[in-house]
Amino acid sequence: MAYLQIAIDGPAGSGKSTVAKEISKQLGITYLDTGAMYRAVTLEALNHSVDLQNPDALKKIVDQMTLNMTITKIFVNNVDVSEAIRTPEVSRNVSVVAMDAYVRAEMVKIQQKIALGQAVIMDGRDIGTTVLPNATYKFFLIADPIERAKRRRLELQAKGFEASLDDLVKEIIKRDELDSNREISPLKKADDAIEIDTTSHTIDEVATMILDYVKGLRK
Ligand code: C5P
Repeated sequence: MAYLQIAIDGPAGSGKSTVAKEISKQLGITYLDTGAMYRAVTLEALNHSVDLQNPDALKKIVDQMTLNMTITKIFVNNVDVSEAIRTPEVSRNVSVVAMDAYVRAEMVKIQQKIALGQAVIMDGRDIGTTVLPNATYKFFLIADPIERAKRRRLELQAKGFEASLDDLVKEIIKRDELDSNREISPLKKADDAIEIDTTSHTIDEVATMILDYVKGLRK
């Protein structure tokens, strides 16, 4: 039996995860935040002070950690790291870890296994191109970098972190560059994905647009 698979890709701060979470709630399907998985590996590597560009060290980290996800939480070795993976330090380093071939292969394996037995909506960078190339629906969300930085700042403020808009714009652009230019599964719109510019739309509006596609009300 083929389950519903919805892929949502796009750059940092394009609204993917908030929109995907809302859609998962409305459709009653599982949501997987694949970015959280790369963040969890990064956190674990930082906690062990390993060289993030050393493939052997990263392999050891991945092989020795257990990763568990629910719709809202992520656990490393049974410890809830849902908050810890959102720090600016993890954000600054995650794209380097996400370039690693072994890290990617292991994360993709887990993601594909989750999609095998149930309906899912996943957000990330390579869902439509690599993880779920046959997804029922694929969306690619984009937004103006300044708007994305503003959204990031609000998210960070809600968690008690202060950051200047300037720094956030720079960090977002740098992360996009690294994610778009890496060798394996770069951030890229799948040929059959529907692109949505979320700059001047609310989360609710984007979620409604996507739901309209899924319900066949929009083509
Ligand atoms: O989605 P989020 O911004 O939390 O993702 C953090 C980082 O994880 C991205 O900047 C990217 O380097 C990496 N990532 C990835 N592939 C995915 C999801 C995230 O490489 N499917």
